[in-house]
Amino acid sequence: MNAGKSGPDAPHSLFIDGQWVAAAGGGTREIRSPADGGLVAVVDEADRSDAERAVTAARRAFDTTGWSTTSAWERGDLLLRVSDILVRDRDEFARAESRDTGKRLVESEFDMDDIAACFRYYGKLAGQDAGHLVDTGSVEAISRVQYEPVGVCGLITPWNFPLLQVAWKVAPALAAGNTFVLKPSELTPGTAILLMRALAEAGLPAGVGNLVLGAGAEVGAVLAEHPDIDLVSFTGGLHTGRAISASAAGTVKKVALELGGKNPNVVFADADFETAVDYALTAVFLHSGQVCSAGARLIVQDELHDALVDEVVRRAERIRIGGPFDADAETGPLISAAHLAKVEDYVARSVAEGAVLRTGGGRPAGERYANGHFYLPTVLDEVRQGSHAVVEESFGPVLTVERFTDEDDAVRIANDTHYGLAAGVFTGDPARAQRVANRLRHGTVWINDFHPYLPQAEWGGYKQSGTGRELGRAGLGEYQETKHVYQNLRPGPQRWFSGE
Ligand code: NAD
Repeated sequence: MNAGKSGPDAPHSLFIDGQWVAAAGGGTREIRSPADGGLVAVVDEADRSDAERAVTAARRAFDTTGWSTTSAWERGDLLLRVSDILVRDRDEFARAESRDTGKRLVESEFDMDDIAACFRYYGKLAGQDAGHLVDTGSVEAISRVQYEPVGVCGLITPWNFPLLQVAWKVAPALAAGNTFVLKPSELTPGTAILLMRALAEAGLPAGVGNLVLGAGAEVGAVLAEHPDIDLVSFTGGLHTGRAISASAAGTVKKVALELGGKNPNVVFADADFETAVDYALTAVFLHSGQVCSAGARLIVQDELHDALVDEVVRRAERIRIGGPFDADAETGPLISAAHLAKVEDYVARSVAEGAVLRTGGGRPAGERYANGHFYLPTVLDEVRQGSHAVVEESFGPVLTVERFTDEDDAVRIANDTHYGLAAGVFTGDPARAQRVANRLRHGTVWINDFHPYLPQAEWGGYKQSGTGRELGRAGLGEYQETKHVYQNLRPGPQRWFSGE
């Protein structure tokens, strides 16, 4: 997508009922690069009436076009075609993602591979499990449990992995036969626009997939409240998730929430030192910490503390920061000035309450960083349990360090959070690794690794990291209703009531 008012190959960027359209109120929004402030694009900015128009289109498509009763195999084929288009257009998608987010091109390319894999996975899963027969205990009755689409889905997504988060919702929603209205983050709409083009090219009928761009409190809120939306699936911050859950309660719609995390990375003294250092860095500094599953809490065994933290600090200071297309950059900017201010505030507050600033704690110096939202990789040592530093998500390149004595202590500290999204365990003892993994109250546990996820393995949070699951079989189940159909094969009067 070039700078200038644009949908892909079309003058507008809202996609409603199979058409690229302008916002009813004529609103537009400038998308600017987080790395240098340059203009990336001008897109249409929807208001409530556009969101309502999109919901009407999705409702009509669900109720009248027959999409919801197409065979699951047909829908699966469509998703496989989308996957092929994503592979074909990988470069265009990856560049658009990097322009909007500021993330390194190579990271966006990895994301595109994962996104194509997600569509492929749900394309193949779509027709595999339509339900099952239930034993009625009688040859005179049959009983069947079957899966059906939920209906019209409102999908609301964040800016950190813009298209990946969209894919985790759109692919299973379509596989199950739903229609949807997508509202991606207003900061990073580029790849959602390209995806709608890909869906149309793959043959998605008009009205089945709709895109509205705009502010959360205005456009997103419509999706949470609207009586014609049957399910809202949200990925984003905890406070927004609470607001969406409360709005959705008014119409008792299904709600799936993928929220934040304050993810522990537990390192035992018997871990391989080089591996533990390396992963401690990627766990938190990848994409400048703007990862819901970032390993932002390093929890290290006492006797390893000094050596490990010294080395992490030494290497954090050597991380090369730059723009998405700078060949030498290892990590990039934060998404916005507002987010940068939030990270600055988080660090200042943590230091004020006693955290020891070992490195970072400010913006990088130099002309090259002047117009971007860059922040140095930061390490805060000796943070206290229960303090702001360990309780709140910074969502920036900030690592906090806590100590533990033994296995029980490690588990207690790692579970001492209202979040429960992901955790890492580094140890040379496989039995201990399994014991600790089983005791951690987090939706994903990585052993001697950090960050890998698979389309076929469920993803989601314990506690206030969310409700429901994405990916895997359960990720499809979120978008399905379960119906029991019972048939009496030998009907006749039951004579429960005599009639006399
Ligand atoms: P956010 O909550 O500010 O916004 C997310 C989306 O919600 C955006 O599209 C926004 O426009 C919309 N929104 C905002 N207010 C709304 C409202 N009142 N009603 C309806 N929609 C509204 O989050 P963000 O800053 O974009 O993303 C960062 C957060 O997302 C972090 O907390 C991160 O941990 C979380 N996240 C979680 C996962 C996961 O898988 N669990 C993945 C990625 C990001």
